[in-house]
Amino acid sequence: MTAATAQAQLPPPIKESGQREVFCGLTSIVWLHRRMPDAFFLVVGSRTCAHLIQSAAGVMIFAEPRFGTAILGERDLAGLADANEELDRLVAQLLARRPEIRTLFLVGSCPSEVIKLDLAKAAERLNVQHRGRVTVLNYSGSGIETTFTQGEDGALQALIPLMPRSESKQLLIAGTLADAVEDRLIGLFHKLDIERVATLPPRRSTELPAVGPGTQLLLAQPFLSGTARALIDRGAALIAAPYPFGVEGSRAWLAAAAAAFDIAPAQVAAVLDPLVERGQRALAPQRETLAGKRLFVLPDSQLEIPLARFLSRECGMQLVEVGTPYLDRQLMASELALLPEGTQLSEGQHVENQLQRVEQLRPDLVVCGLGLANPLEAMGIATKWSIELVFSPIHGIDQAGDLAELFARPLRRRTALSFA
Ligand code: SF4
Repeated sequence: MTAATAQAQLPPPIKESGQREVFCGLTSIVWLHRRMPDAFFLVVGSRTCAHLIQSAAGVMIFAEPRFGTAILGERDLAGLADANEELDRLVAQLLARRPEIRTLFLVGSCPSEVIKLDLAKAAERLNVQHRGRVTVLNYSGSGIETTFTQGEDGALQALIPLMPRSESKQLLIAGTLADAVEDRLIGLFHKLDIERVATLPPRRSTELPAVGPGTQLLLAQPFLSGTARALIDRGAALIAAPYPFGVEGSRAWLAAAAAAFDIAPAQVAAVLDPLVERGQRALAPQRETLAGKRLFVLPDSQLEIPLARFLSRECGMQLVEVGTPYLDRQLMASELALLPEGTQLSEGQHVENQLQRVEQLRPDLVVCGLGLANPLEAMGIATKWSIELVFSPIHGIDQAGDLAELFARPLRRRTALSFA
């Protein structure tokens, strides 16, 4: 089946635009700073931003810009000069204290005082001040512009101009994966005779992979629209594939890369079939809990469509509605082709409308942002926090059973409660 025919079988997505309840892009720092321990994410923000991530990520916050706002004129301009000086001072202190920092990201946020600061200029200035010692980059994690996974898209895009050029044939996996999962996947690519496998982000911020016309790009995460486009602009070819969630999606993802490197299907089968069999065995008990249950996915992480595809096709769940903050049809083409006919998608967020539909349609399980879980549980509906999916190692054939378990658990808990 082609993507075009399958998409024609889906009704048009419900377009929503209204009140949003999602974490902002700063949240991505939690996993990005673990991934690249020699990078530092300096959030230029307010106390709210500090509260959001300080304890979770242990990152440093440049809090409380101390200048007046609203009155445009000398006071504001003087304030901005102060803010820039303060930023320079903080960065100098930070670099003196932390010699291991090789890449410094200035991360923008929502407060109007911060929006007025030109962080791209600040990064340029700091690069001159600290040339040879550190590379300073900037991107926005502001909740006005980004949902929580888009923060990673912004950070990776900031790295792309620094990637060296290479024409050599290589596979480039984009998107942060848990180290152990990534090691396993790279091991599989080696078994498939794909020797040169690079990753973005790399484990050391200074060891950026090369990119160029020989690069075959494979996305490990579905929320990297800007990153994908920027890598394609640098000459990479995007491999069309579903995302590596579940046995089927992961196998198709690995096989699509193998096809791009002209590996014979028989070799792919020889390497992957034993894994597929094991993965399906691990899925079977979870499928018993999930099959026939009705699933409603609210927009949050941008993992919604691939996960809904996995839960319907491999776990037998019925899709009531699948929401996504933003639908990138190019990056989702292989996923949309695999959704059951008639699946109702929604794009964007309007919390009240969506909660109303949940109430009317009474699904068994709702995947949602943290803030919506309590009201839904109070209505008697089981919930799964979408943010947990971003922090769990869920990619790959070997993880399919654990991934299904994440959805089966809240259903089992609710059954246990109703018998208590
Ligand atoms: Fe800071 Fe804006 Fe995120 Fe709130 S939504 S934590 S103000 S960047």
